[in-house]
Amino acid sequence: MDKYEKVFELAKRRGFLWNSFELYGGSRGFYDYGPLGSTLKRRIEQVWREFYVIQEGHMEIECPTIGIEDVFIASGHVGGFSDPLCECKKCGEAFRADHLVENVMNAAGTLSAEQLTQVIKEKGITCPECGGEFNDAYEFNLMFKTTIGPGTGRQGYLRPETAQGMFVDFQRLSRFYRDKLPFGAVQIGKSYRNEIAPRQGVIRLREFTQAECEIFVDPRNKKHPNFERFAGRELVLYSQAAQEAGEPVRMTVREAVEKGVIAHEVLGYNIALTNEFLTKVGIDPARLRFRQHLKDEMAHYAIDCWDAEIETDRFGWVEIVGIADRTDYDLSAHARVSKTELYVYVEYDEPKMVTRFTVKPNMGKLGPIFKGKAKVVADALKQLSEAELSQAEIKVTVDGEEVTVSSDMVEFAEETVKVSGENVVPHVIEPSYGIDRIFYGTMEHAFEEENVAQKAAESGLKGSGEEGEEGPAVEAGGEAEGEAEEETRLVMRFSSAVAPVQVAVLPLLTRKELSDPAKDIVGKLREKNLLAAYDDSGTIGRRYRRNDEIGTPYSVTVDYDTLEDKTVTIRDRDSMRQVRAPVEGIENLLYELIYRGRSFESAGKPFNF
Ligand code: AMP
Repeated sequence: MDKYEKVFELAKRRGFLWNSFELYGGSRGFYDYGPLGSTLKRRIEQVWREFYVIQEGHMEIECPTIGIEDVFIASGHVGGFSDPLCECKKCGEAFRADHLVENVMNAAGTLSAEQLTQVIKEKGITCPECGGEFNDAYEFNLMFKTTIGPGTGRQGYLRPETAQGMFVDFQRLSRFYRDKLPFGAVQIGKSYRNEIAPRQGVIRLREFTQAECEIFVDPRNKKHPNFERFAGRELVLYSQAAQEAGEPVRMTVREAVEKGVIAHEVLGYNIALTNEFLTKVGIDPARLRFRQHLKDEMAHYAIDCWDAEIETDRFGWVEIVGIADRTDYDLSAHARVSKTELYVYVEYDEPKMVTRFTVKPNMGKLGPIFKGKAKVVADALKQLSEAELSQAEIKVTVDGEEVTVSSDMVEFAEETVKVSGENVVPHVIEPSYGIDRIFYGTMEHAFEEENVAQKAAESGLKGSGEEGEEGPAVEAGGEAEGEAEEETRLVMRFSSAVAPVQVAVLPLLTRKELSDPAKDIVGKLREKNLLAAYDDSGTIGRRYRRNDEIGTPYSVTVDYDTLEDKTVTIRDRDSMRQVRAPVEGIENLLYELIYRGRSFESAGKPFNF
């Protein structure tokens, strides 16, 4: 079993992830989040909101997941959101043609369908399933089509990304932010891509959750007002140059921006923010890097683009976040297709005196010729450029009709006017997160198999104390210790910021005199907004193991001593150490352990170490 299989086995068994439609045999590219998985995912999303909405002030919006065709014509998805598809002539299996070619050459992703077909033929690549020959590769659009309304209806698509909502709502957002750049907006929600052959489990889904942020900035000023916050932070950068050398480099954000490795401060700040977020939710910093898109991989309109990649056991380095400077591409495209100007009026710090070329149509000459239309012709003339006006015969379009005006009907002048600002089409900096991949990353990076006896020795425990059938939760005898030597514990080292259960409350035995006080403790923890679970099934050792597997950071055990001295045992998941602490104020103590970084050693009287 590789790690992916082990993590997945645990995820299924403990209610994190299930294959969707299992009852009917399942369908590739879809997964259900079980009770603990949903909670973990929501908590990751909540931390994301804390970062982007609360701290950065980019407000959240919610747009439909179905989009009308115009939106995706403008965005380029109708024309170009496709992957090269190859089907086996014998068994009919579909494959991504670039994936088939990846093993025999680099940069397969940059080849056209025709080039891929040629490579497949030349290298004799055959179907991995049945050895059959492939037909020619062709571009397959990844959007799910749907019909809006009955009958032939109107062509619609399930959105392939959440970003378009922020672009389409640009004017409303700009007004909301009182037309002051920079501003940003975010959206968290489902996106849909009809992936050709998703064979990578949760890494490649057909329905997945994105958290995207679109930051609209003044193209003339890509300095970040809060740049100093992360300027000294060291990042692992796999820049274009580093990729050529084959080795990522460590560099501070300041150094990277100063040396031009990262294009500008806003991008640098957002890469650092992503680093901060990912480590907070439990991505291992040692298995995280930022890879710059190579020149032939970057969208033609993008200035710079970086992917946060995590190392996984089965799939190697996987992109989980994309952070790009998309320039004015999206707004200009929507302006063109919707025929609406999309810009922000930016006032200068000081008004400027500008000399400009002006046109004065001679109404005395235009009137007799154009009669009722003379005013419209005059207005149209004022819109022309200097070059257009300098012709002997000037052409203007009025009400869809081209008319010719001779140059003697127009007078020119130069005037100096005071200008206090100009219209600017903002550039967009976009951090785009795939929540499901981050979810899987936190699970794989949290997953550990540990030899219990070795761990007990490291933590200075007298015994693991967790194996007895009904025995006390501590001081297990020699036999139990012996058993422990062989035992492996699976532990999910989730950070308390995202753990789906923060505290498990365990009565030592399922007797009313112990279960009642245990339930009272659950009540007190829940009042404090902590995710507490009551668990009384199985031996105490088994319950500890179960909570290790679901990543519960702390367990509280109620035993017979509790009834006498009003204390409980608190067990720390990672070290397996235990302390004895009063029931009184237990909710505050756990809150401090979870949210205030209080040390476990200071939480009570050491119990078994
Ligand atoms: P993209 O728009 O392709 O750059 O995607 C942005 C983010 O969405 C990526 O970094 C991934 O984390 C995530 N993502 C893209 N496609 C999928 C997919 N098919 N399944 C799961 N996550 C995806």
